[in-house]
Amino acid sequence: MIKVCKFGGTSMADANALRQVKSIIEADSSRRFVVVSAPGKRHKNDIKITDTLYRCYDEVVELGNCKNAFSIVRERFIEIVKDLGIDLDIKSILDKTEEEIVLNKSADFAASRGEYLSAIVAAAFLGFEFVDAASLVRFDSQGKLNADYTNDKVASKLANVKNAVIPGFYGKNFEGQIKTFSRGGSDITGSIIARGVGADLYENWTDVSGFLICDPRIVDDPKAIKQITYKELRELSYMGASVLHSEAIFPAMKGKIPINIKNTFKPEDAGTMIVPNDRYELDPDNVITGIAGKKNFTVIYIEKSLMNAEVGFVRRILSVIEHYGICIEHVPSGIDTVSVVLSSEELKGGILNDMVNEIRENVNPDFIHVIENISLIATVGHGMARRTGTAARLFTALAKEGINIKMIDQGSSELNIIIGVANSDYEKCIRTIYKAFV
Ligand code: ADP
Ligand code: ASP
Ligand code: MG
Repeated sequence: MIKVCKFGGTSMADANALRQVKSIIEADSSRRFVVVSAPGKRHKNDIKITDTLYRCYDEVVELGNCKNAFSIVRERFIEIVKDLGIDLDIKSILDKTEEEIVLNKSADFAASRGEYLSAIVAAAFLGFEFVDAASLVRFDSQGKLNADYTNDKVASKLANVKNAVIPGFYGKNFEGQIKTFSRGGSDITGSIIARGVGADLYENWTDVSGFLICDPRIVDDPKAIKQITYKELRELSYMGASVLHSEAIFPAMKGKIPINIKNTFKPEDAGTMIVPNDRYELDPDNVITGIAGKKNFTVIYIEKSLMNAEVGFVRRILSVIEHYGICIEHVPSGIDTVSVVLSSEELKGGILNDMVNEIRENVNPDFIHVIENISLIATVGHGMARRTGTAARLFTALAKEGINIKMIDQGSSELNIIIGVANSDYEKCIRTIYKAFV
């Protein structure tokens, strides 16, 4: 039995948290491989080490050194090592790291040092070997994870290692430079290691007792999800449930390895099990599994009579958007209408206007209309397809609260219903759906 354990930022934040980590690891000898994040927040107004390291990079660009910002990083690690009483020359390691951040002049390199240092400290404290992610995780020339190469490396390098701590969040690009995943990417590293060593379980240790039905910052004390399939989780995390990085699912899914989301500060709680379809036990009481959402989308609504009879209509719209290099979030359509939903962030600086004009020229619509400041909210669950009236229940509840639905997209998988509402209705909408089903 092999378990891979990933510990997030709060689990690495200070000496107390690290002691907690140690007791978890020591409670089960199958917890052989540990992936760590950089130290995160110790309290609400604290700053994550990763954010401070991005500041180091900014200072290097501006001033040619990063003395100011790096002093915060330095202090934090010295304090952790001192409080834990580990025999480690952390000062020399920090000096060398600061020098390298200045020399490298790379935001990715700077940011990666949080995980690097965190793993060195954790390895010394646990008495495990330190194995650098730079020697395991590889990206291709497009900047995407080179999954097969990485998997082979992990399998061969860790084959004869009994226990190791591996930094999360980064690897090397095809030119050999340090490159990070997007924010929260240590979850992906954990999943990669789990697949590579053929783990029986990937434990993802964080500061909540599992995946909750919705964001605890919006609904007070939401219920935890006991069990969820990879696909449901993918929908929820893609739609904004930030507990697990939305790409972390893929390596584990390939290896058919279940993921258990656990709470470092309440290890006795069962947490959430994320499992393949064939291991999922249906709970007849649960119609929905979870609710998640994201703010700030723009919907371009296009109407043209008989557009379905016009060959290439939708393709022409999509290729205009493609030329701008923008990813499309959703394309809900009706008989004579089609909408495209795009992230507003990508449409700044006049891009939206230019794009709408180009669409107009290319497809000559009867009507084109832009709706901005839209939030997307996904209600996800296997149970929804089996139950009639789920959509009616959802829409009735929202209507009762006076929430105006601006867009509906029911995915063909019947796993979710996505609605678009005004940003100002976002929190209220999530609370209303929660109340309607839970
Ligand atoms: P870590 O540093 O351990 O990776 P994250 O901050 O990335 O932890 O993720 C855990 C946080 O995600 C929780 O503290 C919680 O505030 C937030 N969160 C958002 N949506 C959910 C949800 N549906 N269930 C649980 N936590 C959620
Ligand atoms: N430390 C990185 C971040 O804050 C990666 C992670 O914690 O997963 O995004
Ligand atoms: Mg995270």
